[in-house]
Amino acid sequence: MDFRDTPEGAEYRKKARAFLEQHAQLEPPDSGRGYRDGNDDPAALERAREWQRIKADAGYAGITWPREYAGQGGTTLEQIIYEQEEAQFDIPRGNFFYIGLGWAMPTLFQWSNKEEILKHAGKVLRGDEIWCQLFSEPAGGSDLAALRTKAVRDGDDWIINGQKIWTSGGQYSDFGILVARNDTTQAKHKGLTCFILDMKSPGVEVRPIRQMSGDSHFNEVFFDNVRIPDSRRLGEVGDGWKVAMTTLMNERYNLVELVPPDFEQIFHLAQNTVLESGPALDDPAIREKLADLYCRAQGMTYTNFRTMSALSQGKTPGPEVSIGKLVNSGRLQESADLGSDLFEQSGMLMEEDMPMRALFQRAYLYSPGWRLGGGTDEILRNTIAERVLGLPQDVRLDKGVAFKDIPTGPTGN
Ligand SMILES: Cc1cc2nc3c(=O)[nH]c(=O)nc-3n(C[C@H](O)[C@H](O)[C@H](O)COP(=O)(O)OP(=O)(O)OC[C@H]3O[C@@H](n4cnc5c(N)ncnc54)[C@H](O)[C@@H]3O)c2cc1C
Repeated sequence: MDFRDTPEGAEYRKKARAFLEQHAQLEPPDSGRGYRDGNDDPAALERAREWQRIKADAGYAGITWPREYAGQGGTTLEQIIYEQEEAQFDIPRGNFFYIGLGWAMPTLFQWSNKEEILKHAGKVLRGDEIWCQLFSEPAGGSDLAALRTKAVRDGDDWIINGQKIWTSGGQYSDFGILVARNDTTQAKHKGLTCFILDMKSPGVEVRPIRQMSGDSHFNEVFFDNVRIPDSRRLGEVGDGWKVAMTTLMNERYNLVELVPPDFEQIFHLAQNTVLESGPALDDPAIREKLADLYCRAQGMTYTNFRTMSALSQGKTPGPEVSIGKLVNSGRLQESADLGSDLFEQSGMLMEEDMPMRALFQRAYLYSPGWRLGGGTDEILRNTIAERVLGLPQDVRLDKGVAFKDIPTGPTGN
């Protein structure tokens, strides 16, 4: 493992830093960044768009995208360096573009045609087009291949019927990557096909789901005889599983970033809190929790260094990135828990004028979702056991069975 930037990496960091210093201010540790990040106020979209355009014009959007598709043709290492620098600045983040930029377009680069990609790439880079991921269903979440939304060929079109759920950003998305079942006589992973869906097509209905944080981060999406032209198919008919895996690997890799509150923020709060028993930092139980969170944050930092070293040597990180997502979501939840405790009674209030603008209270409400989205803790543990440690596979009774013959209920139908 190498802790230093390569000479090229150091040069890239210097330029990225100069760009950020020119356009934004450094984020103070008590700014409550996480509170504003998840805000689904429509004005937040406009602010995020404006920043996305500035980034795109300066060449810091689509860093790893091919040059022929308006990207920079840069390396993943450069992308990580930019993100590390950007994380220190107070910019209008919002949660609008990450699916389009980070995992939908890279899926198109691999599985779509040039004409289709060119229709979208420039708009996605500048934040003018938003994408969502239409994978999970009531019948298929962790076991994604159990999904039931149907795709039936009709001339040059496909007709889609069914339902998706937990679709992040579906309510303001322009397009989505959809996976649907085109053949029930094949084993469950084999009869699937992926498409680009225009979210404004007739027959698409998006119903936001209200979460306990008060936001509607995700949605139910219903399809009633929705038509998709075959030219918007991704990959071959029946290759949907492979296409979906491209998207999911990009998703898990992206989720390793450190989400606020980070250690600096929780430590800052503890340093400035006096409990009934005295200064919070003198309390042995709080010191123990802080030490534990510090160790995890350091573990994440060094695991990220290991990934960066691998990338700088031209290697591709594999299933071990699941470790980062697993540790990160637990760290996030426990930091939010400790932060809310330190506020004592007011830890239950979530107001804009609260100390740190309700960062910890808000994180307390959204952090459980981090342990589910992009693969639950248990599924990530399975991945680590099977693909990193080489342990025996989880029991899979439906392996090789035609989808139509898999029992779905107590009657076996
Ligand atoms: C914030 C958030 C955003 C999301 N965004 C999207 C999105 O944009 N698009 C999208 O398609 N989906 C999205 N999802 C859905 C997400 O991918 C699913 O929630 C996830 O895959 C789990 O599926 P499920 O909810 O159906 O739970 P289930 O699969 O029903 O799991 C229920 C429980 O059983 C456990 N379990 C299941 N199988 C196993 C097993 N083999 N071994 C051990 N334990 C197991 C799980 O760990 C979990 O605890 C999002 C979810 C969240 C929370």
